[in-house]
Amino acid sequence: MTEITAFCHSFKKDFIPRAQSPRQPVRCWSEKDVLEGTVVDAFVIILRTRGCAWALSSGCTMCGYFNDSILSDVSDEDLWVQFESAMRNYKGQKIVKLFTSGSFLDPSEIPVPVQQKILDSLNNTAEKISVESRPEYITEKRIGAIKKNISLKQFEIGIGLETSNDLVREKAINKGFTFEDYKKAATLLKKHQVHVKTYVLLKPPFLTEKESLNDCIKTAKDTAAYTDLLSINPTNVQHHTVVEYLWKRNQYRPPWLWSIVEFLHQSKNLTEALVKCDVVGGGSNRGPHNCGICDKKVLHAIEEFSLTQNNEVFRDLSCGCQEQWRDQLDLESLSFGSLVDFTRWNL
Ligand SMILES: [Zn+2]
Repeated sequence: MTEITAFCHSFKKDFIPRAQSPRQPVRCWSEKDVLEGTVVDAFVIILRTRGCAWALSSGCTMCGYFNDSILSDVSDEDLWVQFESAMRNYKGQKIVKLFTSGSFLDPSEIPVPVQQKILDSLNNTAEKISVESRPEYITEKRIGAIKKNISLKQFEIGIGLETSNDLVREKAINKGFTFEDYKKAATLLKKHQVHVKTYVLLKPPFLTEKESLNDCIKTAKDTAAYTDLLSINPTNVQHHTVVEYLWKRNQYRPPWLWSIVEFLHQSKNLTEALVKCDVVGGGSNRGPHNCGICDKKVLHAIEEFSLTQNNEVFRDLSCGCQEQWRDQLDLESLSFGSLVDFTRWNL
């Protein structure tokens, strides 16, 4: 066990999950998304499973999704009851995104017959179904079986690559797979006409704001040949994680919204993939934020860009805090990668 693996594991060792019903999904909601270039409604379901197998063994430095998991076995029937309960709120949205805070294709989370039953049921009404999986579960056998049994209209699998840099993924994120693993999985999905969504992390711990921005830019280029959609996930501070540990000690600041804007602004020159960004916890201390005054306006522009891919939405954005952000980009590299949160100290 490496040091970072052990550190990630230490947050789960004595963790007692709060009482949660294995018959109720984590949550479900409706949101806007894009299908074939048109803005449509999407229905999002988060099922409560036993938890991501990787999180249970050690987990990633920023991921606290295990807080929503049961951490012991959830029966086939429980999973189906959760799904049916969520579907009572389904209003025929064209896209259905079905997440588990882990891997939909991991049979220890969702047994294969339940996977099939859920996909079969959704395929009757949804135009596009989107799930997520770590690459180790994306195998010829599994994808072949799904494609053979159900003629899915549009099927998308999201992979949390986070970065194309193996060193950053291993040491700063503790993700437990390589860029090569991702490339193999993405190539397999393409072969089966399954759409690939790639999640990229903005601001893992231990990287400066500028290093992270450059890392996202490089990752967008490196994944261009493999992905249909690039989803930027700016880090938010989740409970019982390495990121929270550092944040509480003033050694970590979630990314600036300006960094997201900068990346999105450049993205069209980096990749042909559709580029989007869902900002979780935007504008809060635990989430990606600016000065507090401009956050709402900037978040709105990021949301607009994600739906339209139109750079013009950023044209009129400006605020005094941009200078502070630029200072951080320049200064951090001069100070041995200092990770101090300037704004929390009101400097
Ligand atoms: Zn501002």
